[in-house]
Amino acid sequence: MMPGTRNIQGIGMTSARTRDRLVKRLKQSGIRQPEIIERIRNVPRHLFVDEALSSRAYEDNALPIGQGQTISQPFVVALMTQALLEKDGDLLPLTKVLEIGTGCGYQTAVLAPFVKQLFSIERVAPLLRETKQRLAELGIGNIRFRHDDGFRGWPGQAPFDGIIVTAAPVKVPEKLLEQLGPGGRLVLPVGPVGGEQILYRITRTTNGFEHEKLSAVSFVPMLEGREKGAGQ
Ligand code: SAH
Repeated sequence: MMPGTRNIQGIGMTSARTRDRLVKRLKQSGIRQPEIIERIRNVPRHLFVDEALSSRAYEDNALPIGQGQTISQPFVVALMTQALLEKDGDLLPLTKVLEIGTGCGYQTAVLAPFVKQLFSIERVAPLLRETKQRLAELGIGNIRFRHDDGFRGWPGQAPFDGIIVTAAPVKVPEKLLEQLGPGGRLVLPVGPVGGEQILYRITRTTNGFEHEKLSAVSFVPMLEGREKGAGQ
């Protein structure tokens, strides 16, 4: 037996069982789209967390990923993906989507195959560096990354037909609304840190914006400015 083989198999077996359990939970919690459920089953979430936590990777919980940040709960990733893509029971073929808060790239990896081009912004440089490499190793190629403050959006690539934000601002950022194309959707949590945050879907209509409340959620705060690394 190769060194370490047993370990890897051990995690593999645990993960087959826990992945089934996770899928069952997603279905019970209102994730209706089979393709999204299968995508969550297949993305190797254990590769997005610290090795020490890999045995817990398929539990339906948020986990720490370093730099004071977290990997989102699979249910919330599935819910946001569904909110962004689903219309009248089907999945929309979105062309240009902007993601804010790349983090470890788990939401990015789940969403990528459903959209033509994904643009992803992260404010913490070392996180972004690691994540770019991880997603390249997983063979996910339709993503452009940017180290920037997501409050600005990505004006050079706007308009977007979807924008997804995985950190919580206290109020909806005006610039992101401006960068939505006609019929475009913004899925984001809004609210104070440690207080009540609500996940919204905001759709650009012919006369303005339609707001839908989706769920109570708990995200790290969306912060202003860029960071070069820990402690800066
Ligand atoms: N999407 C990740 C979760 C990310 S946690 C997942 O799938 O698990 C939130 C991320 O948003 C953190 O990496 C944080 O650094 C980033 N973030 C917070 N404020 C931001 C901003 N203004 N612009 C870009 N990224 C931001």
